[in-house]
Amino acid sequence: MRNVYGTVIRQFDRAADRMGLDPSIRKILSVPMNEVVINFPVKMDDGRIEMFAGYRVQHNDALGPFKGGLRFHPAVEINEVRALATWMTWKSAIVDIPFGGAKGGIQCDPSLYSESEMQRITRRFAFSLGANIGPEYDIPAPDVNTNAQTMAWILDTYLSTLPPGDRHRALHVVTGKPVEAGGSIGRDKATGQGVVYCIERWAQDRSFDLSNATYFVQGFGNVGSWTARLLKPYGSKLVAVEDHTGAIANPAGIDPDELSVHVAQHGGVAGFSGTEAIDHEAFLRTQADIFVPAALENQLTAETTPWLDVKVKVIAEGANGPTDLDGDAILDEKGIDLLPDILCNAGGVVVSYFEWLQNKRSEFWDLDEVDGKLRRRIMGGYDRVRAAADEFDVDWRTAAYIVALARLERLYKRRGIFP
Ligand code: NAD
Repeated sequence: MRNVYGTVIRQFDRAADRMGLDPSIRKILSVPMNEVVINFPVKMDDGRIEMFAGYRVQHNDALGPFKGGLRFHPAVEINEVRALATWMTWKSAIVDIPFGGAKGGIQCDPSLYSESEMQRITRRFAFSLGANIGPEYDIPAPDVNTNAQTMAWILDTYLSTLPPGDRHRALHVVTGKPVEAGGSIGRDKATGQGVVYCIERWAQDRSFDLSNATYFVQGFGNVGSWTARLLKPYGSKLVAVEDHTGAIANPAGIDPDELSVHVAQHGGVAGFSGTEAIDHEAFLRTQADIFVPAALENQLTAETTPWLDVKVKVIAEGANGPTDLDGDAILDEKGIDLLPDILCNAGGVVVSYFEWLQNKRSEFWDLDEVDGKLRRRIMGGYDRVRAAADEFDVDWRTAAYIVALARLERLYKRRGIFP
């Protein structure tokens, strides 16, 4: 298992050196503010007690309350959570929203537990977190293997711990809730929608015709499936998909909407009719214009990045950290454009911010309003990153870091350090 937090630190150092980040501010931003690790017991369906390790890392809250997802996965451990929390700080800064960065999760394999066990695991973790989360302090959201239902359980547990008169004022303790429970319309597709807006802007920049484009997607969960479905109306053709059940391909095209139905019924992409099963290497060698990694970290490395076909023109990072530093260098050599994670997948946190605002104001926005505002935030972030890439003559990941770090540097210089 590669140490993804080491990658974050090296990305940070590279950008900080290049922009000449103030050394004091560099020290502050190079470590998370708070790290909470909770070992908690849960009663299983057969009466046994099992212990679980839950994490919440709060990287920085200078720009606003800590904000970031919760992941339920066997690979969750403190360094991964630190990395994901740090990326959240940069992400909010790039798209100019008043949030800090955090991330959390439980080390577990949800496929091994019944729904009622998952509900008890989630609720007990939320209860144990106690005042470490809060609507104006630290606001969780969904990530890998968590969804609107998970958020509804956390909301209900959190509200149950408050005095009755305070409960309606705390709906914004989590985002990504079901719409019936105070969620925002458009939050389910928001990350994928942001990825697609980013690709649209890139295509404009490059005078690239999306109506003749081909793409392939790794991960067909929330981010991957929505990205795949939302690119379809542009006329682009999905030609290969990989998830934890395997990889499938059809050069004549795969319908992402039909594939979503198949995944809902069968739990994965394997066996989708009209497609051929391929192995991981063949998947990464797919001949297509756009690759959207939307699963886990460290997918494009020294070993795998050389496999990318000469036809690939851009990597749109739906996932967090899918490319390591070697992968970045090889993309650069190959002349493949990169839409870095902290810009490209920021749509989720943007619409989480909209949900949070709607809850605070007791408002309910329609989809046009949400999508229109999301589009402006993503396009604004894209333009800032492009400007920094030009000004500092750096790759787009470093440019995205520079945008984030410069915003935080300005803020810290104004506020100063107490005492
Ligand atoms: P998800 O649980 O909905 O989907 C994860 C997908 O990854 C599934 O299709 C799963 O089959 C696939 N996968 C798991 N292991 C795999 C493997 N070894 N090879 C190939 N595919 C594999 O999760 P998600 O919310 O879509 O998150 C995916 C990525 O996007 C993560 O990196 C997450 O941090 C990032 N992200 C998510 C959001 C969000 O709003 N959900 C926002 C920003 C970034």
